[in-house]
Amino acid sequence: MLQTTIAGSLPKPAWLAEPARLWAPWKLEGEALAQAKIDATVLAIKMQEDAGIDIVGDGEQARVHFVHGFLANLDGIDFAKKTIMGIRNNRYEAEVPTVTGPIRRKGSVHGAEARAARAHRKGKLKFTLPGPMTIVDTIADEHYGRREDLAMAFAEALNEEARELEAIGIDTIQFDEPAFNVYMPQVAEWGMATLEHAARGLTCTTAVHICYGYGIKANIDWKQSLGGEWRQYEDTFPVIARSAIQQVSLECRNSRVPIDLIRLLDGKDVLVGAIDVASDHVETPEEVAATIREALKYVAPDKLFPCTNCGMAPMGFDTAYGKLAALSQGAAIVRKELRQPRA
Ligand code: ZN
Repeated sequence: MLQTTIAGSLPKPAWLAEPARLWAPWKLEGEALAQAKIDATVLAIKMQEDAGIDIVGDGEQARVHFVHGFLANLDGIDFAKKTIMGIRNNRYEAEVPTVTGPIRRKGSVHGAEARAARAHRKGKLKFTLPGPMTIVDTIADEHYGRREDLAMAFAEALNEEARELEAIGIDTIQFDEPAFNVYMPQVAEWGMATLEHAARGLTCTTAVHICYGYGIKANIDWKQSLGGEWRQYEDTFPVIARSAIQQVSLECRNSRVPIDLIRLLDGKDVLVGAIDVASDHVETPEEVAATIREALKYVAPDKLFPCTNCGMAPMGFDTAYGKLAALSQGAAIVRKELRQPRA
């Protein structure tokens, strides 16, 4: 019970990409880059193990960004044709590639790092992919016209990739859908259907991560505008509860999400964000334990997985791994309490 895990990305070593920055360009190229991505993946796994994390992830070391990394080996995308686009409902602008033809997966996208991760990890291993709705929200479209049609085309490519990852031996495949917190009516209309399409036929554990974004200024400003209570999950959780996706990763620590909303996820595993990724303050184990105890009021210990709020890519190396150590220590405190209830 209370198996710890991470939401997704981890900081990259300074020899691989510029630290403390999202979308940081690579520092190497060609064969040297390919090998360095593998090295960084193995390092991320070992450092998570040292921090005491139970279900470790690939740390997204081999991709510049969690969305565009997946697009690298698809047909139908013109990477030279950059469009400046407001994403997440115009929360911030990004320079994005453009869909100019039918989306098709040319071949493996993440197979190399997934195989390396599997080879060096004996225990549970998790791998993340972007969800269809979030990809659609992070790319310009000149071919499909309707967002739901483009999302379904990406879902097909994601499903092929996910099946390959499962065959490599990945235990948990998580789809990241921060867009689920922005376009709530569309989640019910087509977002969830395309996500289920991406996950169809998988026999490994499946998860979806829904958050309020990385700890970057645009997201922090956006959160300030959301008022005293963040109730976005209230719309999406019932839709997810009816789906085939088994786990839901969400944001709790230092957020204004009313934690009792996780009641709406009855039957699912809940990955409770007990680490704030928008702050460099390294949580104490006791602070982590307090978040877990709060969530335990609404979800059983065997269904609760202490986790980070979101990815940690833009964070300092020591801060991120310090937080992961606190996460596992905090979970250990609560595990002990559950085994020996206070008299
Ligand atoms: Zn996130």
